[in-house]
Amino acid sequence: RRWGWSLAGELRQAAARDPGRTAVVDESGAELTYRDLLDRAERLAKSLRGVLGVQAGDRIGLLCRNHPGMIEAMVATTLLGADAVLVNSGLSAAQLATVAEEQALEVLVHDAEFADRLPGLPAELHRVDEARQEELVAGAQPGDLRPPPRDGRTIVLTSGTTGAPKGARRPTPHGFGPLVSIIDRIPLHVRHTVLIAAPLFHTWGYAALQVCFALRATIVLHRRFDPAATLDALAAQRCDAMFAVPVMVQRLLEVPPPSRRPPLKVVAVSGSALPGGLATRFMDAYGDVLYNLYGSTEVSWASIAGPADLRRAPTTAGRPPYGTRLRILDEEGRPVLDGRVGRIFVGNEMLFEGYTSGAGRESRDGLLDTGDLGRLDADGLLFVDGRADDMIVSGGENVFPSEVEDLIARLPQVREAAVIGVPDPEYGQRLAAFLALHPGETLDPEAVREYVRHYLARFSVPRDVVFVKYLPRNATGKVLSRELRRYYG
Ligand code: ATP
Repeated sequence: RRWGWSLAGELRQAAARDPGRTAVVDESGAELTYRDLLDRAERLAKSLRGVLGVQAGDRIGLLCRNHPGMIEAMVATTLLGADAVLVNSGLSAAQLATVAEEQALEVLVHDAEFADRLPGLPAELHRVDEARQEELVAGAQPGDLRPPPRDGRTIVLTSGTTGAPKGARRPTPHGFGPLVSIIDRIPLHVRHTVLIAAPLFHTWGYAALQVCFALRATIVLHRRFDPAATLDALAAQRCDAMFAVPVMVQRLLEVPPPSRRPPLKVVAVSGSALPGGLATRFMDAYGDVLYNLYGSTEVSWASIAGPADLRRAPTTAGRPPYGTRLRILDEEGRPVLDGRVGRIFVGNEMLFEGYTSGAGRESRDGLLDTGDLGRLDADGLLFVDGRADDMIVSGGENVFPSEVEDLIARLPQVREAAVIGVPDPEYGQRLAAFLALHPGETLDPEAVREYVRHYLARFSVPRDVVFVKYLPRNATGKVLSRELRRYYG
C-alpha cells in the first residue's frame, strides 16, 4: 500500500523535497520547517497509537484554535489512517457532549482554554491538551511509519447556524484538484508566505491548508484573529497572501492603517457574503488584491470573484473556476435563464461525501443543491442572494436580506447591518434591520427607512430598525440570525 493523497501524504512529499523550507510560523515568531513538522507529527502519531491505542478508522476530535499543534494533530491522525473530526470552537458544552457521542470520538485533542466546556464528555474519552500533546511528541522517535491500511478522512462539523452541527465527510481529491481550481483564478505561487486567518476547523481554513501544503507555502498562524497583530504580521513576515472570512477584512479597516501597505498580492475571503461596500473600501485601502469565494462545507468553493469583477460589480461572487460546473435551476430542475433567481447547484471534485449521520443533500446529474438562491448576469457573473430558508416573504413579495443589508451597510454611520424577517399579523412577515454604528455616530430610524425607500421597493423597507452594539456572530464570523430573532421573544 502506498501513501495516497492526504494531508499526511502531501506533508511527506513537502518534507522530502523541501525539508528546510519553513512550513509554519506562529505569533511568537517560532518556526517549524517542513521536516520538523513531519517529524513532530510522526512522533505524535506513534504515541497516539502506542500510548492511547489509536487505530486506523478511529475518530479523533480536534477542538483547537489556529496554531502549529493543530496542524500537527491533523497530520498525525491521517498518518494513522484515523479520521480527524474538526470541531467548531464556538460550540457550547452541551453541543460538544453531543458531538463527542454522535461522532464516537476516541480522543479529543483540545486547547487548554476549552477545558471548562468539556465536563459533559464521556470519562473514557482520552483528552489531550497542549501540554499532553507535547509529552506525547517527546515520548516517541520520528520515522518508520508505514502507510495505514485505510486513508484517514477529515470530517468538518458545520457551525450549526441552521440547526444542530452536522459532520460533513470531506472528499480526498488529489491536492491538485483544489489547487488547480484556486490558481486558475488567484495569483498564488509556489513558496508564497500565506497567513491563514480563517479558522482551520472550518472548510475554508482547512482547504487553505491543503492548498498551502501543495504550494509548499510558509503558513503564518495566530491563535486568535486580532486586526492590529495581523497587520503587523503581514508586514513583518512579508506575507504574499491572506485567507480570511469577510468580517476579518472589515475589522482590518477599523484599526489605524499601517504606515506602509503590506506587500500583499492576495486577500481571499469565503464563508459568508462579502458586502459590496466592504469590498470597495478594502480595495481602496489595500489595493486590488481581494478575491471573494462563494462556497460551503458541502461544495468547498464554487465560484471566485477577482478584483476586476469586484470593481465592476462589488456584490458579485464571480464565476466558477476550472473544474466546477454551476447551474441555476428552478423547482423542476430546469435551467433558469435571463438573470432570474433560482437555486444554485454545483458540481466539482471537492463535493462532500455525505453527512456522518447518513443524510445527504439533493443532487441532480452530479450537481449538488447548495440550498442557496442566486442568479447569473449576462456576462456569467454569479450573484448569491442567500439561503433559500432566509428569504423573507412580506405581503406576498420576496425579499432577500442580503440586498437590504448591503444597501444599509453603505451608510457612512453604519459599521455593520443584518436584516431578518419577523412574524407580522398584517404582512405575514416584516423586515427588521439590526444596525451597529461606528463609535460616536447616531442615526434616525426614519432616515434609514427613507434611504432604503429611495433605492428599493416599498416591501423591502425595514419597518423595525434596532440599534445594537455589535452583531452576534459565530466562530467563522457568520451573523447568528436566531440570536437576533430572540429580540422578539
Ligand atoms: P451551517 O450549515 O450550519 O450554517 P456553516 O456556517 O459552517 O454551517 P458553511 O457551509 O460554511 O456553513 O456556509 C456556507 C453558506 O455560506 C453558503 O451556502 C452561503 O449561503 C454562504 N456563503 C459562503 N460564502 C459566500 C459568499 N462568498 N457569498 C455569499 N454567500 C456565501
